[in-house]
Amino acid sequence: MYKEGRESRKAVELARDRVAKAIGAEPNEIYFTSSGTESDNWVLRGISTKKGKHIITSSIEHPAVLETCKDLEKKGYEVTYLPVDEDGLVSPQMVKDAIRDDTILVSIMFANNEIGTIQPVAEIGQICKSMGVPFHTDAVQAVGNVPINVKELNIDFLSMSAHKFYGPKGVGALYVRKGLRLSNFLTGGHQERGRRASTENVPGIVGLGKAIEIATSDIESKSAYLRKLRNRAIERIEKEIPYVKLNGHREKRLPGHVNFSFRYIEGESILLMLDLNGIAASSGSACSSGSLDPSHVLLAIGLSHEVAHGSLRLTFGRDNTMEEIDFVVDKLKEIVERLRFMSPLYEGVEKEV
Ligand SMILES: *Cc1c(COP(=O)(O)O)cnc(C)c1O
Repeated sequence: MYKEGRESRKAVELARDRVAKAIGAEPNEIYFTSSGTESDNWVLRGISTKKGKHIITSSIEHPAVLETCKDLEKKGYEVTYLPVDEDGLVSPQMVKDAIRDDTILVSIMFANNEIGTIQPVAEIGQICKSMGVPFHTDAVQAVGNVPINVKELNIDFLSMSAHKFYGPKGVGALYVRKGLRLSNFLTGGHQERGRRASTENVPGIVGLGKAIEIATSDIESKSAYLRKLRNRAIERIEKEIPYVKLNGHREKRLPGHVNFSFRYIEGESILLMLDLNGIAASSGSACSSGSLDPSHVLLAIGLSHEVAHGSLRLTFGRDNTMEEIDFVVDKLKEIVERLRFMSPLYEGVEKEV
């Protein structure tokens, strides 16, 4: 009831308007959360179980979805993990075939964080709509990179995270289509219209709102630029470095996203040497780095353990230049050559050639 409080409220509501506008939703369909992980958890754990306890998802989801599903299985839910093809695509027909009378949710990510593949979200949304099953998409990788309209795509729930579109860390949002029910994830006070208790992270929310506004304005030309950088990297790597494999779909992929397997060497070693050259990259999944298990995503698209271990992910941002892409590929060429020279796996290959 005082001026400072009203200003904070106004700032939060402006951010909500900006998020809604960015994805074609209404402001009262947007809830702020602490992260993409929380948004995913809220939907999976909060969806009504009146009709049953069957959830359909894919085998290449982010751990925020996969681990939550595994936890729900322990609590008596049944989860169908749909396989993907060699490009990492989920088949809409398989989604349709997997839907049962007791299916309460389909949760398929918009774009994959490790291999960049963009799923046929519109088709899946259409199927879910026609069969009366709510459709959630983890769009953490897609927001700010690809145009999204939740109404046109028939999306019922959508998760996003600010730090994936140049916003601050530790704040996310969830779109909940009007009329759909979710139980409260946090109980307590009346914040977020009583559906997500706890004092709002005002600076985080304001940052998220401004970031999504910037990221989605002129999105076509920004993603066209990223695609140019990406295609240049892919073209040069395939032409100039032998024994490589592009992971993920060649066209249906995030604009600034490249993932390659380099045969006979370890992705981790490439990373260390790239870091020495001031290049920040990632092998497998950033979320599972430090773990020796090969990425579940790379295994799901059919890579052997050995090939999966030799994978590298490069993501480009709007501040990157073509010169930087060339610098990265030049360095990568040298590094891969050096590592292969030292690799016992490569010795036999060299002699064969
Ligand atoms: C990063 C990411 C998340 C997790 O978001 P946080 O805000 O870091 O919790 C979930 N899903 C996907 C696809 C991601 O890339």
